[in-house]
Amino acid sequence: MADHQLFIDGEYCDAASGDTFTTYDPATNTPIGEVAKADKGDATRAVEAARRAFDEGPWPKMSGKERAAKLRKVTELIGARSESFAEMEARDGGGTIKKATFADVPGSQSAFEWFARCAEDQPDEVELPGTPFPPSQNWVRYEPHGVCTGIIPWNFPLIMAAWKIAPALAAGNTSVIKPASFTSITALMLGEVFQEADIPPGVVNVIAGPGGTAGEELASNPLVDKTAFTGSTEVGRRIMQLASGTVKAVTLELGGKSANIVLDDADLDIAAAAVLFGTFLHNGQVCESGTRALVQRSIYDEFLGLLVERANKMVIGNQLDFATDLGPLVSRGQVETVERYVKLGRDEVGEPVCGGGRPTGLAEDLDEQAFFEPTIFAGVDNRTKLAQEEIFGPVLCVIPFESDEEAVAIANDSIYGLGGGVQSGDLERARSVAAGLRTGTVWINDYHLISPERPFGGYKQSGIGRELGVEGYNTYRQVKHIHANPSSGRDGYMHFAALSSEI
Ligand code: NAD
Ligand code: MN
Repeated sequence: MADHQLFIDGEYCDAASGDTFTTYDPATNTPIGEVAKADKGDATRAVEAARRAFDEGPWPKMSGKERAAKLRKVTELIGARSESFAEMEARDGGGTIKKATFADVPGSQSAFEWFARCAEDQPDEVELPGTPFPPSQNWVRYEPHGVCTGIIPWNFPLIMAAWKIAPALAAGNTSVIKPASFTSITALMLGEVFQEADIPPGVVNVIAGPGGTAGEELASNPLVDKTAFTGSTEVGRRIMQLASGTVKAVTLELGGKSANIVLDDADLDIAAAAVLFGTFLHNGQVCESGTRALVQRSIYDEFLGLLVERANKMVIGNQLDFATDLGPLVSRGQVETVERYVKLGRDEVGEPVCGGGRPTGLAEDLDEQAFFEPTIFAGVDNRTKLAQEEIFGPVLCVIPFESDEEAVAIANDSIYGLGGGVQSGDLERARSVAAGLRTGTVWINDYHLISPERPFGGYKQSGIGRELGVEGYNTYRQVKHIHANPSSGRDGYMHFAALSSEI
C-alpha cells in the first residue's frame, strides 16, 4: 500500500496497478514517502466518478448557499490542520516554512472562502430587459459545465489545488485534480478534508501520476467538459490540442518573464526590497516573478548597489527553519537548468554581480546540489536569451532604461504577459506606465500580492482565461439564454413570415 493514496469517489485507494513512486525532500535528498502512481486507467476511473457525481449526485442541484457552507467547512478544516499542511508543503517541494505558513496554507483557505462567497452572492439567473416587439421575456442562467479537471505545477501545490477545486465546486461542477509528481502529498491530503466536510463521493477526486499518461487523460477524456491547466507554456500548448478533440472549455495559466520597473522617483529603499521580493521569493520558482528589473538610468548605479548588498544578506538553508529565506530548489534537475542559464548568461552578458553558483558552507545534512545562490546579472540587453526565456530559478536580469516609454517598450518585448511591477513615488505616473503593459497583473509599489477576490491570468503566451475574482468564478459557469414569447395572439409572431405567411 502506498503511504499517500489516490482519492477517487470519496475513498482513498492505491493505483489499480499497485505502482508507486518515491517523493523526496530536496534539501536533504531523503525520501518522504511512496505515492500511488495513477496511470491512464486510474485517471479514467476518477473522471467517471466525477461524471456520475455530476449526472446523478446531489451536488449540482444544491443551492449556492448549501455549497458555500460545505466550502467554508473545508476552509475551517484546513485551518485545523495548518501545521501539518505547512510542514508537508515545505518538506515535499522545498519552499520555506515561512512561505508555507504565511502564504500556502492561508492562501488555499482564502480561495475556498472567496468562492464560497461567489456561490452565495453571484446569481444563478438574471432577468434581462424584455422587448415589446416581437414580445419577449429573457433570462440568462449561469450553470455548471459538468466535470472540470485541473492539472497543476509543483511550485504552489496547495494553493493551485484550491484555485482549481474551489471555483469548480462553488459553481456546482465536479472535479478531478492532478498535482505534479514532485509535490503530490498536500493535494492528496485534501481528500481527508473533503471526507470530513461531507462533500459527496466523486465531487472531488485527486490523483497523482505522470503528466504524459494520467495528465493527458484528464485533458482529453470525452466525459470531461472543462480543463484548467497551470504549468509551462510548452505543456499548455499540448493541453489545448488534447482538449480540442471534444472542444472542451480550456483555461491556461502559463509561464512568464515579468518586468519590475523602477522609476527615478521611487523610494529606492522600498523599491529594492520590492525587486528582491519580486524575484527571489521561492527562489524565483513563481510564474509571475519579476525576473527583469528595469531601472531608470539616473538611479541605476545606486539602485544596483542596494540590490547586491541585500541579496548577499539573504539566508540560504534548511527550508524547515523559520530563519531561512531561500531553501532548496524543487529538484536537482531544476538546479541544473538554472546552472545552464547562468552559464549562458556568462557568455551573453558577462560575470554576474552577485551569486552565480551553488552556495558554500551549508549545514552538513543538506544536499548542496539542491541549492543555488541568488544571482544578479547587470547591464543586460533585453534581447538576450537570458532576458527572454523563463528560467524559473533565482536569477535576476537588471536592464537600464531612459524614459517611461522605453521602459514600457522593453517590458512588452516578451512572448509572455503575466505580471509586472512599477515602483514609483507618483501614482498617476505609475498608473500610466501600468496601462501600457501587456500583462494580466501589475503591482504598483508592491509585488506578488495575489488575492482570490481579484482576477489573475496572462496575456500573450502566458495563458488564456482568468482564475480568481468573479471573472475566474464565471469561467466555471456555462451561460444559457432563455427567450420566452409571452404573446397570446397571432400578432406576436409576425416574424414567422420570414419563412412564410401561410403557416
Ligand atoms: P509542467 O508544465 O512541466 O507541469 C505542470 C503539470 O502538468 C504537472 O502536473 C505535470 O505532471 C503535468 N503534465 C506534464 N506533461 C503533461 C501532458 N503532456 N499532459 C498533461 N499533463 C502534463 O510545469 P512545472 O514544471 O510543474 O511548473 C513550472 C511551470 O509552471 C513554469 O513554466 C511556470 O511559469 C508555470 N507556472 C505558471 C503559473 C501561472 O499561474 N501562470 C503558476 C505556477 C507555475
Ligand atoms: Mn518532493
